[in-house]
Amino acid sequence: PLAYDVARLRQDFPILRQQVYGKPLIYLDSAATTQKPNIVLQTLQDYYTGYNSNVHRGVHHLSQIATEAYEESRRIIARYINAAHNHEVIFTKGTTDSINLVANVFGRKIIRKGDTVIISAIEHHSNIVPWQIVCEEREATLRIIPVNERGELEMEAYEAMLDDTVKIVACTYVSNTLGTVNPVQDIIRLAHAKGIPVLLDGAQAIQHRQVDVQALDVDFLAFSGHKLYGPTGIGVLYGKSEWLNKLPPYQGGGDMIKTVTFAKTIYNELPYKFEAGTPDISGAIGLGAAVKYVQGIGVANIGAWETHLLQYALEALSSIDGIRFIGQASHRAGAISFLVKDIHPYDLGELLDKQGIAVRTGHHCTEPIMDFFKIPGTVRASFGLYNTTEEIDHLVTAVKKAATMLG
Ligand code: PMP
Repeated sequence: PLAYDVARLRQDFPILRQQVYGKPLIYLDSAATTQKPNIVLQTLQDYYTGYNSNVHRGVHHLSQIATEAYEESRRIIARYINAAHNHEVIFTKGTTDSINLVANVFGRKIIRKGDTVIISAIEHHSNIVPWQIVCEEREATLRIIPVNERGELEMEAYEAMLDDTVKIVACTYVSNTLGTVNPVQDIIRLAHAKGIPVLLDGAQAIQHRQVDVQALDVDFLAFSGHKLYGPTGIGVLYGKSEWLNKLPPYQGGGDMIKTVTFAKTIYNELPYKFEAGTPDISGAIGLGAAVKYVQGIGVANIGAWETHLLQYALEALSSIDGIRFIGQASHRAGAISFLVKDIHPYDLGELLDKQGIAVRTGHHCTEPIMDFFKIPGTVRASFGLYNTTEEIDHLVTAVKKAATMLG
C-alpha cells in the first residue's frame, strides 16, 4: 500500500526527530493537530523576513507581494477542494470559526421560530454548541441523527426527520472520536431532495481523502489548517456562491466593505464580505504551502497509507487482553479509540506518555457520544502521513506494559 517513502517524508518534519523522556517521540495525535513540514515552516519564515505587510490595502511593493501570495493560497485551496470559484473559499480561524460563521448568519437570516436544525449524535462540540445557541435564540429545535452501537448513523431515522421545518443539516464527514466515515453523499442527496442545504464539518476528512465540493454538491464545508499540516489560527469555510451572496456578513470591519458612510455601508463582494479585519496572512500563505505539500504526495496516497496503518493497528491492538474498541464502523479513517479493561483512559495515556508515545485521552470534545457509550472517555491513537507500522508495534508493546502495571 506504500506509494511513497515514509522514511524520507519523515525527514520533512524536524519535530519528529526529538526524544521524549529519553525515548524517540511517537506522535499518534494528528487528529488533534498535525505536525508541520519544513516547507510550511520555511514559508512562514520567508513571509516574515521577506514581505510581511498588510494585504489588499497597500500600493507599495511588499503589500502587493503579500496580497498576491495570500490570494494564490486561496486559489490553491479552491483547486484542492475543486471549488467552482476562488471566491467561494473564505479564510477563517478554523473549523470552529467557520461553523460559527454559518450558524450565526443562518440564525439571523434564515432560521425562525418553529424551524429545525439537524446535526448528528457524533458531532464535535464545535458542531453542536453554535447550533444550540442559534436554536435557543430563534426558538428553533435541534434534531439529532441517532447512532448505533457500531458508531454508524441511523440513516432511516435521518430520512424520517427531513420535513419542511428543517432549514439546514450540519454533519461531520469523519468522526474525530470514532473514526466513522459518514455516508455524506447520501446525507446530502436526501437533504437536497427536500431543498435543504448541508454543511459538512471536514476537520477530520480534508487531510485523509479527496474532498470534491462540486462532486459532493455540498453547500458549506468547514476545515482547519492545523489538521492539514498547516499553521494554527487559519481555516477555511467553503460556501456555494448562491448561499454566500444571499447571507449577511458575519462580522463588520475593514476589508469587508466597499464604502462606508454613517448613513449606509455597502458590503464588499465575495470573499471579502466574510473576511473582516486583517486576516491571518502568514497562516493563509502557510496553509497554501501545506496543501501544495499534500498534493505533491497525493492525498489519495496518504489516505491509502493511513488506512493500512489503521488496519494494522486494529489487528495488532486486538492481541491486548481486555481491549475494547469504541466505534466499529465498517468505514473508518484516521483514528482508533479504545479502552483496556476498566483502566481509566487518562492513566493509560500518562503511562504511554512516559514511553514517548503521544495519544489523546478524554472525551475528545464529543461528550454526547461518550454518554451514549456510557464511558468517561477513550484513548485515541490517530495517524498522519508520517506514521509507521513500527510506531504501532511500539504502541502495542507500551499499552501491554501499561495495562500490566495498572491492571
Ligand atoms: N470538528 C472536528 C470533527 C474536529 O476534529 C475538530 C478538532 N478537534 C473540530 C471540529 C474543531 O476544530 P478547531 O478546533 O481547529 O476549530
